[in-house]
Amino acid sequence: MQAVEVALSTLFVPRCAACEARVEPPAPLCAACATTVDELGPACPRCGEPQAAPPAVECARCRAGRWPLEAMVAPWRYGGELGRSLRRLKFARRHEIARALAPLYAPFLLAAVEAGAIDLIVPIPLHWRRLAARGFNQSEALARHARAAAGCAAPLDTRALRRVRNTAPQTHLDGDARRLNLLDAFAVPRPARVAGRRVLLVDDVVATGATMAAAATALTTSGAAGVVGFAFARAER
Ligand SMILES: [Zn+2]
Ligand SMILES: [Zn+2]
Repeated sequence: MQAVEVALSTLFVPRCAACEARVEPPAPLCAACATTVDELGPACPRCGEPQAAPPAVECARCRAGRWPLEAMVAPWRYGGELGRSLRRLKFARRHEIARALAPLYAPFLLAAVEAGAIDLIVPIPLHWRRLAARGFNQSEALARHARAAAGCAAPLDTRALRRVRNTAPQTHLDGDARRLNLLDAFAVPRPARVAGRRVLLVDDVVATGATMAAAATALTTSGAAGVVGFAFARAER
């Protein structure tokens, strides 16, 4: 091998997204870390709220009509080494983790796009101040790589939705406080872009769903024909 090939092969050594052990592509995680990844299990089909029994019916919130999305797909439970991988992506700015994790999400993303007759994939945007501080939008990076890995035809639209208020971090707020915090946080700069279109709204982690609901409301009030949510992992509320 020539020097340049050696250099390139060490640069692109596929590594576990959580612990950096070497893996055989396209494995996103090493065997030990992969055992900590849990499927979400039974959940409300409209909002993804975990349920004890198989989800024959929608949860109380959805039956009361307080959830603006048609469906919610969140294949994995947030936690374990998957949670660690998503935190490394977001806070340590390890962009390559979005690509490494793509095989874990690609089949679910494709199924959601096909089942939902989706026209546009729209990542939840960051406010420009937070985007400037972090350097990239982790939800956009995850959506971009999962879409590419799935060979998905629906385009990614990163301009359909804008975050117009730099909201406080939500981690320590309860459900009602989160909803208030997000009031008018999102805007659709050019409604013609979404009018009559079916949107897959993508976030990295969903907990109460308040962010998804606020973004979906902005899209539907601007004329979107329907919104389906997709989150890479579901956290406990
Ligand atoms: Zn590992
Ligand atoms: Zn529900």
